[in-house]
Amino acid sequence: MTKQEWKTNLRALVVGGAGFVGSHLCRRLLQSGYEEVICVDNLQTGRIANVADLLGSLHFSFFEHDIVNEWPVSGALHEIYHLACPASPVQYQKSPIHTFKTSVLGSIHLLELAKEKGARILFTSTSEVYGDAQVSPQNESYWGNVNPFGVRSCYDEGKRGAETLFHDYHEEYGVDTRIIRIFNTYGPRMSAEDGRVVSNFIVQALRGEPLTIHGDGTQTRSFQYVSDLIEAIVRTMQDGVPHCPINIGNPYEISVNDLAERVLRMTGSRSSIVYKPLPQDDPCRRRPDITLAASVLGGWKPVVGLDEGLSQTIAYFRHLINKAV
Ligand code: NAD
Ligand code: UDP
Repeated sequence: MTKQEWKTNLRALVVGGAGFVGSHLCRRLLQSGYEEVICVDNLQTGRIANVADLLGSLHFSFFEHDIVNEWPVSGALHEIYHLACPASPVQYQKSPIHTFKTSVLGSIHLLELAKEKGARILFTSTSEVYGDAQVSPQNESYWGNVNPFGVRSCYDEGKRGAETLFHDYHEEYGVDTRIIRIFNTYGPRMSAEDGRVVSNFIVQALRGEPLTIHGDGTQTRSFQYVSDLIEAIVRTMQDGVPHCPINIGNPYEISVNDLAERVLRMTGSRSSIVYKPLPQDDPCRRRPDITLAASVLGGWKPVVGLDEGLSQTIAYFRHLINKAV
């Protein structure tokens, strides 16, 4: 950490802070010297275990609360991070109306709080705003190809609506907003039951269960390791970063078939592969254009390759699974 990065007297609110990405972010803010990190989470997909080691810190507090309802904060507040929302299709489709409310009502409540406190606020949007993209790679000026009336709409349209709110609170009230569009991110502290492809494949491989490939497995994704995302989030909250959406992801694109083979090879698993139907509206291709991020975030680019990131994630799940038996 550079001396410049050492932040004192800062109070930050991290909503969704007990989730996979949020728990890494809380840690990073505390390591950077924040005076107080307030973590708010309804524990829908997050877990206390993700932040258990932080609970003893005088600089960290946890509150179980659903951001569909307002969350008043007394005293000064400098930064707000809105990470609340299940990110796994399996999870966000369990309660779609609530997912939509989390993005839209949650954003209104947090933007109002930012307005009241004069706080800078970041929204974790998603590559899903591009839907089943018809251009590749996707850059920020692409408007997307999203179904507004389907099983993924609660997530995609909720995030798009929230982006609109962030745009309008900035324009109308001058709120200091930031938006990042995150592409598929994986790493330690994902839940074994999360349902996203990386955690599913690793957990299935380690348990000797068949790997479940949806469709014919030729669809692609570009997977980013969590530490690269956290570095981007921290840089996005610095002074001078524009209010427009910024893609954050790793442009290395791989098919789901190749990912399955790689996980089998790296875990040494003898699991078989089973093919399941492709879920409705599952995008065919996804790959970020990160030119804007590199130019406005001080040359940021992902530095953890897929093999290195997978091996860290495999080690995490191996430990978790061994502990459970
Ligand atoms: P996650 O499901 O692990 O974390 C989400 C957290 O938000 C959980 O702790 C959950 O309990 C909490 N939450 C959900 N609804 C809430 C509500 N109404 N009130 C309070 N807390 C609530 O997912 P993640 O991968 O850590 O994603 C974090 C954020 O980043 C999400 O907003 C997600 O949409 C966004 N994102 C993530 C990815 C990715 O690949 N990880 C990609 C694009 C966008
Ligand atoms: N997928 C898969 N097997 C699984 C879980 C997911 O083949 O067990 C596929 C899914 O259909 C999609 C890709 O892997 O094509 C990425 O899915 P994920 O849920 O991780 O994220 P998405 O990008 O779809 O939001």
